[in-house]
Amino acid sequence: MRILTFIEDLSWIDIFEYFHSALEGVEFSAFTLDKNIAVEVSKHYDKVFLYDSAFNVYGIQSALRKILNGDKFDVVLAPSSNKGRMFAGIYTGLTKCSIVTDVIGIEREGKSFIVNRLVYGGTAIATIHVSSPFSLCIVKGGYKEKPKNRFGEIIKIDVEPDSGVEFRPREVTGNDPTSSDIVVVAGRGIKKKEDMAMIEELAGITGGAWSVTRPLAADYRWADQWIGISGLIISPKVYIAFGVSGQPHHMMGARASKYVIAVNKDPEAPIFEEADLGIVGDLYKILPRLLDRLKKG
Ligand SMILES: Cc1cc2nc3c(=O)[nH]c(=O)nc-3n(C[C@H](O)[C@H](O)[C@H](O)COP(=O)(O)OP(=O)(O)OC[C@H]3O[C@@H](n4cnc5c(N)ncnc54)[C@H](O)[C@@H]3O)c2cc1C
Repeated sequence: MRILTFIEDLSWIDIFEYFHSALEGVEFSAFTLDKNIAVEVSKHYDKVFLYDSAFNVYGIQSALRKILNGDKFDVVLAPSSNKGRMFAGIYTGLTKCSIVTDVIGIEREGKSFIVNRLVYGGTAIATIHVSSPFSLCIVKGGYKEKPKNRFGEIIKIDVEPDSGVEFRPREVTGNDPTSSDIVVVAGRGIKKKEDMAMIEELAGITGGAWSVTRPLAADYRWADQWIGISGLIISPKVYIAFGVSGQPHHMMGARASKYVIAVNKDPEAPIFEEADLGIVGDLYKILPRLLDRLKKG
């Protein structure tokens, strides 16, 4: 089994190792856009393809064409993040193999595999039979297998981006919850759009990013994106939620956070089952005081 894995950041290495052994892989290649990641990843992979560039769909397409050169991998693995899905989507488009997203597990069954994927916004698991070649986009979970050191060769791919797939990048606002160590999230406990200023201020003071639950973005239009199974999947060091109930659809996008802090006035709110630190209280009393304290140093 020849496996190509798209490594977006190092936190994925253990998770991919779990899938590598479940797939009984024999040859492991990685694809990354970052020199430092390439060096670290070479300890775990036979070959690392380094496309030293910002994420650009045309560039990735050219790089994959060059790597493939008429050949195919048996399996391509990627995170079920925006970039991961795009990478796997480009690969799938080029090779016409099948693709499964939101994958949480895999098992061999004879010559094929049984893949478990989240459906209905994360409330149910579907079982799908796949045979190679295929691509899987994986949702972060509790995969515990330890990686072995390997020291693979790093191959730098120098290509000019070519066209073929139309790509419209999202507007860059400087607020990126997917790459911040701290993410402050507002839920429906925030009553007015103007009150979002407190959430943004806390994100600014802590050097983090901010986001919202889906109703605030999709219904109220207070933000362009949200955290959750149908939105962004984040894995910050600290996730701080104000007035978020913690429904599974939302928490699927935040569960990989190292430390979960929740402020909610309802002691029975489901988010407290997932929180490392829970504060039962009115966010309109707690948040202004917290901002005051932080501003005083
Ligand atoms: C198919 C599908 C996909 C979905 N995908 C997503 C998704 O990706 N992301 C997502 O977020 N949602 C998603 N949803 C919606 C999700 O199920 C929940 O409805 C949503 O996450 C709830 O948002 P909330 O926590 O802001 O609001 P609520 O559930 O209404 O919770 C508000 C919370 O605020 C608390 N509160 C109120 N006032 C205060 C106060 N003054 N101080 C402190 N606490 C207060 C309340 O106690 C309550 O717990 C999806 C739904 C479906 C059906």
